[in-house]
Amino acid sequence: MNDTQADKNEFQIGDLVLLIDRKDRRYMITLVEGEKYNCHLGQLFHDKIIGNNIGGWFRTDKGHILLGIKPTLGDFVRQMPRGPQIVYPKDLGNIISFADIFPGATVIEGGLGSGALTSALLRAVGHTGKVINYEIDEAVLPKALRNIERINSDTSNLEVKISDIYQGISERNVDRVVLDVPEPWQALSGIGDALVMGGIVLSFVPTIIQVQKLVLAMEEDGRFQMIESIETLLRTWHVTERSVRPDHRMIAHSGFLTTAVRCDPKPYGRVPFSREEDGKNLDFRNNELEE
Ligand code: SAM
Repeated sequence: MNDTQADKNEFQIGDLVLLIDRKDRRYMITLVEGEKYNCHLGQLFHDKIIGNNIGGWFRTDKGHILLGIKPTLGDFVRQMPRGPQIVYPKDLGNIISFADIFPGATVIEGGLGSGALTSALLRAVGHTGKVINYEIDEAVLPKALRNIERINSDTSNLEVKISDIYQGISERNVDRVVLDVPEPWQALSGIGDALVMGGIVLSFVPTIIQVQKLVLAMEEDGRFQMIESIETLLRTWHVTERSVRPDHRMIAHSGFLTTAVRCDPKPYGRVPFSREEDGKNLDFRNNELEE
């Protein structure tokens, strides 16, 4: 095994470690030379983990055995300190996928909160992309930035603006806008101005009343097409030799995702030029073309 392979397999100083006990309780630490981790299961010196295998088992001074792995982004956001309600891992993946966040994209994000969604966006845009976050409440910054810096090795492509996104977005030709704010319909005018043609807006809201207000406002604005709303139900399963069944508990509800594409406005109430020329009898009713 060469040095590079050895490094990849072993915990290093500064690494995040997820420790899991025999009851599947999880504890997250950052490895610091000379430090010790204290919990009800006893003490564990970080030096016993540093330089040892990721996926190894570590014994506390009280004799309890803990499994040590590197946390995924999903593990991390579930464990990290939080202020405002975070977006859960089950939604993070779908946000990245349905908003089609790609490496190199410029993304405007509304609401920093605890930094969970920002961390996922930063990962998805990569070093060549950029996330510009509008956050109205300066007080959330310290905790959110600490969280983001713990899970993302490089945050130089994150810009946080203390600003009300409902008042407009100053950037232009941005690829994507992702919102987790309570009244996304108030931001629509600015989003329509900021998005590149064909760009995607995605909004996460917890109630269906908010979804309806947003969708109606998008239709009223006219610059958003392909409007879709979804929710994700995720059920984990209990699988043993004697029993295979869904787990008793699940997160039944978190929120709804609404996406739309920035397009030209529909030709409301007027006959498209080329068809009028054809002299066909066209009628617009309820914004639908009827022939
Ligand atoms: N997505 C975040 C996460 O995963 O950790 C949580 C966002 S939290 C639910 C909503 C955030 O939006 C709060 O931090 C709040 O201060 C911010 N916010 C609310 N209204 C806003 C506005 N008009 N402009 C900018 N930020 C706003």
